[in-house]
Amino acid sequence: MQSLLAELRAAVIDPDAGPVRRRQAARQLARLADAGVPGADPADWWGLTAPSTDEPVETTPVRVNPSKVNRVRECALRALLERTAPSSAMAMGSAFHRITEILGDVDIEDAEQALRDAIPELTDEPAWRLAPLIEEWARALHAWRSWEGTQNVVGMEVDVRVPLGDDIVLTGRIDRLAGHPRDPSKLTIVDIKTGKAVSKDDAEADAQLATYQLALALGRLIDGPDGPVIGPDPTRGSEGGNGGGDGGDGGGGNGAHAPDASILGGATLVYPRDPLSGGDPKTRLQAARTGEQLEEWADVVTGVAAALRGPGAIATPGKHCEFCTVRLACPAKEGAR
Ligand code: SF4
Repeated sequence: MQSLLAELRAAVIDPDAGPVRRRQAARQLARLADAGVPGADPADWWGLTAPSTDEPVETTPVRVNPSKVNRVRECALRALLERTAPSSAMAMGSAFHRITEILGDVDIEDAEQALRDAIPELTDEPAWRLAPLIEEWARALHAWRSWEGTQNVVGMEVDVRVPLGDDIVLTGRIDRLAGHPRDPSKLTIVDIKTGKAVSKDDAEADAQLATYQLALALGRLIDGPDGPVIGPDPTRGSEGGNGGGDGGDGGGGNGAHAPDASILGGATLVYPRDPLSGGDPKTRLQAARTGEQLEEWADVVTGVAAALRGPGAIATPGKHCEFCTVRLACPAKEGAR
């Protein structure tokens, strides 16, 4: 019955369907509604009912975490409704991140042992899978340490809290900030990934990295109680922007959107569990954004903040619907609910 209702409803609102077909579909729906079939009466159609509230979902300033930007751009409704259930893969990734943080304080052997001890607690893999899994993660830890040793790390787990205009705050945490190898005035953003490497094109377009580049260019590296953090830059308040710093890198800006591209050394994704043949982690780079690109991205992030603020949230169907856990409640997926 649900699929029949969905087909009739789709026909009624299909502008490409002829008037005869639309009238017939409407007539059948009316008959089903008279018979009391749930979902046949347009009063039950979620897409046609009035919003239950016009209150914003998020209060101002809206906090935008760079890790959410891509999901909101794909589908605002899913980003608003979906809650990610904890998984053993997420727990393993978190444990790996924590253990990389202590590498500077303990021997690699002790860090590796901590990782080996943690894995059986975090995964429900069968025993025959556990031993190779532990070896794989141990190799990843060594690969990461070896790669990190080539970097001039200036900050670890760097908190980010930077305003974008008056109504938005970019908040998150950068795994590592490193000095640029050829230009000491620039900083590179490093993100540890515990999955398989994405394509070079996907890394270049990565929304999370691009948003962290924007935050770094809008803010300032300052000393926090637990190390460096990226906070507001008082010289780039809502009235005082300098339009892209001394680098002349475009992006005249309007004060609130006046990122300074001159500090950016780009960003790197590091994949310790996806090594090259020699054992080093694969890496993927995102080029340093120019002032003009930052201005454009600030507009994208402003749109994301508006979507998060609500109260409306647009359902945007696409390939991502395949993995959407709220599709049963989605007005864009006929017959799904
Ligand atoms: S099913 Fe698709 S369109 Fe609907 S909420 Fe999920 S991702 Fe968005």
